[in-house]
Amino acid sequence: TATYDIIIVGGGPIGLACALEAKQANLNYLILEKGCLVNSLYNYPQNMTFFSSSERLEIGDIPFVTTNPKPRRTEALEYYRRIQQKFELDTHLFEEVLDIKKNETENFYVTTSKRSYTTRKVIIATGFYDIPMLLNIPGEELNKVRHYYDDPHYYSGQKVIVVGASNSSIDAALETFRKGAKVTLVIRSNEISPRVKYWVKPDIENRIAAGEIDVLYNSELTAVSETSATIQTSTGIIEIENDFVLALTGYRPNFDFLRKVGIDIPNQTPCIPHHNEQTMETNIKGLYLAGVVCGGLNTHLWFIENSRIHAKQIIAHIQSMSI
Ligand code: FAD
Repeated sequence: TATYDIIIVGGGPIGLACALEAKQANLNYLILEKGCLVNSLYNYPQNMTFFSSSERLEIGDIPFVTTNPKPRRTEALEYYRRIQQKFELDTHLFEEVLDIKKNETENFYVTTSKRSYTTRKVIIATGFYDIPMLLNIPGEELNKVRHYYDDPHYYSGQKVIVVGASNSSIDAALETFRKGAKVTLVIRSNEISPRVKYWVKPDIENRIAAGEIDVLYNSELTAVSETSATIQTSTGIIEIENDFVLALTGYRPNFDFLRKVGIDIPNQTPCIPHHNEQTMETNIKGLYLAGVVCGGLNTHLWFIENSRIHAKQIIAHIQSMSI
């Protein structure tokens, strides 16, 4: 089989940015994506609006045109798909990378769910959206407890607990409330996160003030049953009737995969995978990290806006190595 110059693991915005750079540098590359194109964005809530304005989501200096102040998920899907098609970025979808090993010639041997490849360099741009942070409480395994939120209609007329105070939780609380759910927010701290989108924050605060959405601050969900939920509040333990729990408490990179391919990751939080900040090369020569995966558990560190530059850094380093 042919040896690639670069295999890019992950067909998210940053994987695509890396492919654009590689193509421009006349390097022979392949993107391997385990789901559909920009799989994470596809799995975001259907009505999601980005907190970034569109120019900050652009890759390869290609304009992202929208008439909205902030683009919606569906527009971003169009934008990245059009780029992949227009530039004919070589992408294998629904093909998961299972392992990456160096062979005796210092090239990499990449094994996927479908076949295997050899390549000189590897870029891992696998993001953090595949593994939810668990609550680790009794009842979490019930089907009514969800770590991903999609569409509000499903929750109409239901008693819904939304856990968390960040953007995902607040969006879900407002949307489901507006489709007729009885919403209780359970928040560990004493406030709505200051990171909540500035145009959304007054909305949730006013819904709470009007008594339309219930909120329990300084509280934690401790158990869930088919019909109820138990909550430790600042004034004691309470049990309330409940139909669904949306536990939108964040996500984390697939550390098992990163460790399996040999990347050093410290055990202490935030568990940032070892990489050189200039070149993005990991402790394994020729194996690079790009995009939000670089932040480890610090998933607020990297966005599309500030990590799209990784593509240029990596390709520049690869080119400087081959001179
Ligand atoms: P991802 O888009 O997550 O792409 C990684 C890809 O790798 C996925 O498609 C995944 O399926 C694939 N993959 C994983 N493992 C494998 C494997 N073993 N083999 C093959 N493929 C694999 N950022 C902003 O800049 N602005 C915003 O407004 C914004 N809003 C966000 C809203 C939400 C709800 C979330 C969760 C994040 C948001 N972010 C935002 C943060 C971040 O920019 C996004 O997470 C973005 O998708 C990161 O791009 P990425 O390419 O690094 O990772």
